[in-house]
Amino acid sequence: MSKWNLIVDVANCTNCQLCVLANHDEHVGNSFPGYAAEMPKHGHKWINIQRKERGQTPMIDVAFLPVMCQHCDDAPCVKKAENGAVTKRADGIVIIDPEKAKGQRHLVDACPYGAVWWNEEKQIPQHWIFDAHLLDDGWKEPRAVTVCSAGALEAVKTNDADMQRRAASEGLEHLKPEAGTKPRIWYKNLSRFNRSFIGGSVEAAAGDTVDCVPGAAVTLSRNDRQVAETTTDVYGDFKFDGLEADRGQYRVEIKAEGHPPKSLDVTLGDSVYLGEIRI
Ligand code: SF4
Ligand code: SF4
Repeated sequence: MSKWNLIVDVANCTNCQLCVLANHDEHVGNSFPGYAAEMPKHGHKWINIQRKERGQTPMIDVAFLPVMCQHCDDAPCVKKAENGAVTKRADGIVIIDPEKAKGQRHLVDACPYGAVWWNEEKQIPQHWIFDAHLLDDGWKEPRAVTVCSAGALEAVKTNDADMQRRAASEGLEHLKPEAGTKPRIWYKNLSRFNRSFIGGSVEAAAGDTVDCVPGAAVTLSRNDRQVAETTTDVYGDFKFDGLEADRGQYRVEIKAEGHPPKSLDVTLGDSVYLGEIRI
């Protein structure tokens, strides 16, 4: 049976907020009985673009992470709901019934992704419904996907085996896999948000001046085992990305013809730029 999935490419999201605005436009002032009550004009972020800055000047980057209801197959909100207020549709979409869920504020805390928002005026929990009301009306994808000109969002309707194959071949990941909720939202290039890098710039004295050193061999080791290697670019820069930010101990070793080797020990938490390294 085909079910909906959403692939979010973190590397492509520019934080343009068009998906956020499209969702507001769809739901502020509009009620869709059986799907969602009106969204409040202020305060709710059913699609929430989070921001992560990594590194230090001049080696710095910023990534944006769209977070919305993950339409989990093993959803805590479904289990914690009373009166069958939250249901899983056959196409994979999770719906919070705006009538049955009245007063069930505990559903906000039930969601490990912070994707349920409390509507104070109506006393109901609310979330991004994957535009189920539009899909049921013949739309081919949610409005958020339609407006994302950066190519950061792709809605995919397929069977679970196909989706698993695609996830494996493209390295798609889930947010908070430790929560065990089996989300239907998949993230590409998530390392831009949840992993760290070690980078630096290699330079050497040349007479009275200092030049960058392109083409130097740089290796990265952990527990005396080499885990990556690279060469410096034309500016003498190198970067090892996608590293676990777990306070691990790393050693960076630099070798360039005509210069003595150099090594540096690094304890990696957040991303680190080692600065200009003179060899
Ligand atoms: S529309 Fe696309 S690029 Fe813009 S914020 Fe949303 S996901 Fe990111
Ligand atoms: S992300 Fe939260 S609200 Fe959405 S299905 Fe999962 S537990 Fe429920």
